[in-house]
Amino acid sequence: MDLKEFFPESGHIQRLYCDQCNGHLDLVFDDFSETVSGVEISINGLPVLHCPKCNEKYLPDDSRFAVIHLHEQAAKRSSDIVKVTRNKTNQDFGFGAVPFIYDSDDYKYIPGLKRPWDEGFLTPVFFNREVLLKYDSSPTYRLSFASTTYGEIRRGDDFSMPFGLNGNGKIVMWLGDIDRLPEAEQYYLRSENIESDHSIGSEFYDGQIECVFTDLSKEDDLFKARSEFLEACFKKFGSKIAHLDKEVFDLSVSFNAPIVDTEKERRHVADTLNKIYLESFDNKALGAVIKSLGGDPKSLGSIKRLQKVIELSCPALDASTIMSPFYILYDLRVAYSHLGSDESEEEKLKFVTDRLDIKADSGLMEIYPSLIEKLHESFTKLADSL
Ligand SMILES: [Zn+2]
Repeated sequence: MDLKEFFPESGHIQRLYCDQCNGHLDLVFDDFSETVSGVEISINGLPVLHCPKCNEKYLPDDSRFAVIHLHEQAAKRSSDIVKVTRNKTNQDFGFGAVPFIYDSDDYKYIPGLKRPWDEGFLTPVFFNREVLLKYDSSPTYRLSFASTTYGEIRRGDDFSMPFGLNGNGKIVMWLGDIDRLPEAEQYYLRSENIESDHSIGSEFYDGQIECVFTDLSKEDDLFKARSEFLEACFKKFGSKIAHLDKEVFDLSVSFNAPIVDTEKERRHVADTLNKIYLESFDNKALGAVIKSLGGDPKSLGSIKRLQKVIELSCPALDASTIMSPFYILYDLRVAYSHLGSDESEEEKLKFVTDRLDIKADSGLMEIYPSLIEKLHESFTKLADSL
């Protein structure tokens, strides 16, 4: 290779996206071994940006300069061989009351994170995803989602801390943000803190660093609408009327639109939607809200309780119409799970398609998009009205 190739082309900035497929790159530590303009250069552990899809590799700017520098030193010594093992930077940026596990190389070599006026602030810190569940069940904090993989931990109206979920299912937050948490919270976070996997490409990165908001999938968009509705409820009633347990969160993240209409897929889709959008409502919390509004929650199931809350707090709304998609989802699961007799199953399905206003013989591929759209409409209307 020619040394010139290591000088970045003028105007070229190495970003976190692959030139071939535009996918996110991961930081890896590679063994570099090339003859560069007559000098055999070997570096152990050189930071390299790697595309897991195309297996393409790109050199971050500082890695390019490292090669150039070694070549220069070899030339000064009139040597034609240089072998080095790179030491990790292991820099302590001084954030946090508690020493968090992070890799300062991430900050230095992942494109877009350096802020000379705020050294180390945007260092990614990695956590087990269970960390979110604790914030969801805390009375002081709440979670809000812009998609299933990008959200914020909020406290009151003035504190929010963004988080993302990377491709390996790990939670990522910025070191500088963590520093703003009370010390006790930092100790808690530290207990779920894990080593960096150097993979930060996500909606979180796109939104936070590139200010790019990718078009959401219908599923992500629905999850976001649910989150906005729950946030509106929290503001209005001061209570979390739904919760996120591990199963619901895992299902939300892994859930995709059906691509085939089979018995198994029907059951899976109806079950999953039920778990995320119906079973996650907190009956007790809904009951308490009803009581606070002067109603009686006795012997009502969660959908009815939610309807009661709407009737009591937004009398101008047509609560039964707005709640209809929730009942449809419930009935769809009963029909698709063969929980009733054959006859009632057919009736139930007919009742589902009637209310969705689609053909009676519609299968999963027609029912699903229609139901998702109607649920989305309801969440949005409810959030606006509250
Ligand atoms: Zn690629």
